[in-house]
Amino acid sequence: MSLFPMFVKLQGRTVVVVGAGVIAEGKIPGLFAAGANVRVIAPQATAQIRAWAREGQLEWLPRAFAPVDLDGARLAIAATSAPGLNQTVFQTCEARGIFCNAVDDIENCHFYYGAIVQRGDLQLAISTNGKSPALAQRIRMELEETYGEDYAEWLEKLGATRAVLRAKSPDPERAKTILHALASKQTLARYRSVTKRKSQAINQDITFAASPSANRAAQPGTVYLVGAGPGDPELLTRKALRLLQSAQIVLHDSLVSREILAEIPPAAQIIDVGKRAGQKLLTQEEINSLLRSYAQDHAIVVRLKGGDPSIFGRAGEELEALRNAGIPHEIVPGVTAALAAAAAAKISLTDRRVASRVLFTTLSRGTDGALMDWGSVTSTTTLVLYMPGPDYAEVSARLREGGLSPELPCAIVSAASGQRQIVRRSTIAALAAEEKLPAPALLIVGRVANQQISEIAETAWRAAGNREPALQTTRIS
Ligand code: SAH
Repeated sequence: MSLFPMFVKLQGRTVVVVGAGVIAEGKIPGLFAAGANVRVIAPQATAQIRAWAREGQLEWLPRAFAPVDLDGARLAIAATSAPGLNQTVFQTCEARGIFCNAVDDIENCHFYYGAIVQRGDLQLAISTNGKSPALAQRIRMELEETYGEDYAEWLEKLGATRAVLRAKSPDPERAKTILHALASKQTLARYRSVTKRKSQAINQDITFAASPSANRAAQPGTVYLVGAGPGDPELLTRKALRLLQSAQIVLHDSLVSREILAEIPPAAQIIDVGKRAGQKLLTQEEINSLLRSYAQDHAIVVRLKGGDPSIFGRAGEELEALRNAGIPHEIVPGVTAALAAAAAAKISLTDRRVASRVLFTTLSRGTDGALMDWGSVTSTTTLVLYMPGPDYAEVSARLREGGLSPELPCAIVSAASGQRQIVRRSTIAALAAEEKLPAPALLIVGRVANQQISEIAETAWRAAGNREPALQTTRIS
């Protein structure tokens, strides 16, 4: 007959242990951990059991077993050296509907202890129904290796996130999908790679937390909307770095680079709330709920966004949610992608010889580009197009429809400031046929994007009545 596997709640329930030698003693901490009320019956007891009794952790009745001792009990453990007594306990339990385990005495057992791998609340129990304790032991060792110590902490984090999502998510099915994604091996691998790379930095973090500037940030329950910059950790602000190193919770977008996540100490909980394959992992409302709820019991919650939080970062909705919930919050600006892209392409966005203004915009909102005010775009406007998408022919067509000249130069910049940075120069007309660069990419459009800008600028400069050469120190080849 196979055994029925189960995990039993013993919190506040009485478990009787008959016997108070070392074997019995060994069975008791597990019962404490499950919150059971332990009653020990035995004329003599080990020093440890006597100490527990003195401290009120268990009840010890210093006498021989009597059936009345089982009153109110759910489980009994017979751990005596007298086989006859084990049997008596078992039979009394059988008559009274109580489950009994007689240690190493399978005849007198209703249930067995499984071989256990325990990682916090994660418990893996193995049973071979007594056929091969050796096999059970081998499997236990294999599981111990597969499910390392860090599962305990990871499970805590999964549990906390689940509680929030279940309470706040408007769509339980979606919440389920998200929770499955969070429990995946890939998420664990990410969690591990980040915690591992930072484990040496712990000492440094302690010093950091003790510094006065860190204390200044430690007001209870503040949410910081922090700009992570375009990717290169060197472009993080000092304030962003300080907050990342003292945060308890960091919720980040997928744009945020691994190198920057590696700056977060292992003790912090890191949650990826970004997009996966074009699919948002969490809805904006779910992110808002997480922010509100984490702020209730954590001093520093960082919402980490690529670039600057206020540029195409949906900070508006988050700020509103925080304001409405009365949660203290602050924005920490970052280097937005436009600036990193301009730096990468060695473009001066407001080169005074050819540009008088810069417009940070996008075409991807709505199908008709209704948000784009083409009237404000003149020949001296530098346009920075965020989220141009992969269809360059469409982008090229839209820019021409907007009245821009097909000859106008542009630069496509992919992964600005990152290790895979690519800059491609083109024109609005030629853009249609350009090879697609990997995301994230953006487009700088305008006369400033021309490599041979020197000539145009020189002409314009002179036409404006200037005598001395404009490009003396800034000639661009
Ligand atoms: N808040 C961000 C922008 C988020 S919108 C910021 O201030 O930079 C996302 C878009 O930003 C991407 O589609 C891409 O157009 C642009 N982007 C972000 N990081 C980039 C990078 N490193 N290189 C090029 N473009 C980037």
